[in-house]
Parts: sequence; C-alpha cells; structure tokens
Amino acid sequence: MPPTTTMAVTENSKTKTTPILPGATIGVFGSGQLGRMLALEARRMGYRIHTFSPDQDSPTGQVADREVSAAYADLDAVRQFVRGVDVVTFEFENVAAAVADIAAEEGVPVRPGGWVLHTAQQRLREKGFLAEAGLPVTPFVPVHSLADLEAGLARLGCPAVLKTAAFGYDGKGQVKIERPDDAAAAWQTIGQQEAILEGFVDFQCEISVVAARGVDGSFAHYGAIENIHRNHILDISLAPARVARPVAERAVALARSVLEALDVIGVLCVECFVTRGGEVLINEMAPRPHNSGHLTIDAAVTSQFEQQLRAICGLPLGSTELLRPAAMANLLGDLWETGTPDWAAACQVPGVKLHLYGKHEPRPGRKMGHLTALGSSVDEALAQVETARARLQGYAGGRGPTPC
Ligand code: AMP
Repeated sequence: MPPTTTMAVTENSKTKTTPILPGATIGVFGSGQLGRMLALEARRMGYRIHTFSPDQDSPTGQVADREVSAAYADLDAVRQFVRGVDVVTFEFENVAAAVADIAAEEGVPVRPGGWVLHTAQQRLREKGFLAEAGLPVTPFVPVHSLADLEAGLARLGCPAVLKTAAFGYDGKGQVKIERPDDAAAAWQTIGQQEAILEGFVDFQCEISVVAARGVDGSFAHYGAIENIHRNHILDISLAPARVARPVAERAVALARSVLEALDVIGVLCVECFVTRGGEVLINEMAPRPHNSGHLTIDAAVTSQFEQQLRAICGLPLGSTELLRPAAMANLLGDLWETGTPDWAAACQVPGVKLHLYGKHEPRPGRKMGHLTALGSSVDEALAQVETARARLQGYAGGRGPTPC
C-alpha cells in the first residue's frame, strides 16, 4: 500500500477499470507550462480541459476550455471545480493534499493519488519514503534546529547542502555549507525552518527517468535523460543520456520501483546523480511530467504529456520510442535582458523547434519556453540547440512580452 496520511482516498475498482474517453473533461490543478502542454495534447485528442489556480490568463488557461481563478485554500471553489470534471490531475506538487481529498470525496478519480502528492511535496517525507523503500538516495539527516544541523554536519561532513523541507524547487531554499563554522549562517539563510541536510555528491553527471504507470499497472519509460544544470536550474537535457548502458538500466529500474512502491497512476520523473563510481542515487522525484521530458514532444512517438493523459484516462500507454537523438535548451527570462529574443534567427537553424509558454513577465530565472533539436547524434542535437539559443540574443529591438 502507498504510504499516506490520506490513505482513505484510494480508488475503487470500478473507477479504475472504466476508461475516460475523448469528449470527457480533464481537471488540472496548477496552470503553468506543464498544464499548458498537457492541455494542448488533451485538445488534440478530443478531450476538454479545465484548469484551477490563483492566476488569470495563465499558460494553461490560455489554451484550456475553462480557467478557474481561485485560491487552492478555497475549498468550496475546489469542490465546484471537481464536480465539473471527469478526472483530476496536478501539474505541480505544492497543492494541498486536501484538494485531492475533496476530489475523491466527490467520486472523481485523482491521478496520481493524494498520497503521492503528499509524499513528493515535502523533501523529508520524500527522502524518508525512498530510503524506507530501500532505494539509494543521497545521505541525509532531518534538521529541526541549529543543534540538529551541527550534529548532521558532524555526521555527514562538509561540504553539505541544506534544503528547506517544503516548497523547494530549482535550487530555491537551499544553501551549500563548506565548513562547520557556516552552520549558523546557513540556518539563518533558510529562515530557521524544517529542513533536510544532504551530503554533497561530487557527481559525474545528472540524469532523470520520466516514466508512466497505467491503471492496470503497465509501465513505460523514456530511458535515461542527461541533465545539465546552471545555477541549480535545468539548462540542457539530452536523450539518450551519454552514460553506460548499465547506469541507464539501473536508473530505469529505480524509477519503476518508485512508481510501483507509490502506486502511481500517471507520469513520474526521478532525478538522479551518477557518482564517479557509476552508482545511481535518487536526488528527488516529481509526480508529473518534468522539464527534462519536454524533448519527448518532438523526439518521441508519444510525448510525456500524451502519456500522462493516457495514464490518467485509463488508456493504453503509448510507445516511448525516441525518433532521433534530441537536445532541449531552456529559455529563461534572463534572455529578455537585451530586448525581445530573435525568434526568427533561432528558427532558421534546421530541425530546431520553438516552444513558448505564454508567460507575460520574463523575470530572471523564470522558465519562459524551450528549444528542442533533433540530430543524428546527441552531440549534433546539442550543437544545434546551442547554436539556436545563442542566436536568440542577437536582437535588441521590440517591446518584449506584454507586462501583466
Ligand atoms: P534540487 O532542488 O534538489 O533538485 O537541486 C537542484 C540542483 O542542485 C541539483 O540538480 C544539483 O545540481 C544540485 N544539488 C542538489 N542537491 C545536491 C547534492 N546533495 N549534492 C550535489 N549537488 C546537489
């Protein structure tokens, strides 16, 4: 059984076996780019899609059939929303598990289930679950006080990474500790809140596995994807990852174990460190499509978003075959510093695809879009996507996206 405090909300066998067919309505909590790309696939396949978030004219709302703007804590609005959909899913994990409970109370399937959300949205629960399941993770200790932190540093040694337990992503709420004397300053930096201390992994590379599990327990994966981060934010993804086959196979096996141990229906991504000795350690998991899987839109027979749709609707999972080696480069708000990026110049590079998320404000570090390139090898695809991205900055004119 999945580990949970919201265990009461598992699905009954009837909802599990009845497929949710085109024409039905998908409800997605969250309204960012992941919801947008899911919505585009949903519409292509003849589904309707409703989105719920506090925002308006959001990346998902712009392409959805219906955009509901209300606080996640507005449980009446949540109930109203779930009554109008046939299945509920999430595009980010920091939605209160109470939302999933309401959907389940209303008899609407929630996929993946609330227990998955509950486990993945807090780093201590997440790492604790993975460690208890016997899966390899970075060495860690829970931290609730400065004394815990000092004891943790004595145990794990330096350098180490202190991360807030809740609401962390893209390196937010995390600080690297080089010397034990820096403990008090690090504890201040993260706001003296519940945290996890991890040993710093001197990794050879980072990889992820995006995988899906259907209502019938079927499993599909896209193999290992190689990820290059800049300032703790994903910068480039490459598929297939340039790692030895046993390393990729090990990562896929770990992903499968996570999906099965958590009884996931939907897509889940595990992000891993590959140590210099070739060991694979899980850093974290995301119970949804993932930035590193965006290249599947152009490079795979079935994109990770179509796969999410198929999984949550009880349809057979699609082929994950990669058509060609691929590279994806993120486009952050920083690109707008010198004016509107030169989209035409980037599109001139053969085989490069432009994806923009419809966000109004290009803040530094904000994910505004991505480029994908296919090639005859990963290195060729990487060169293409880097050339295209470099060309974006040639254009200093224009007004840029409309501010909110
Ligand atoms: P996270 O928010 O945990 O995904 O961390 C973002 C990035 O920070 C990771 O992709 C790594 O590049 C780096 N990082 C996080 N934790 C560690 C660690 N324990 N050891 C080394 N690098 C880390």
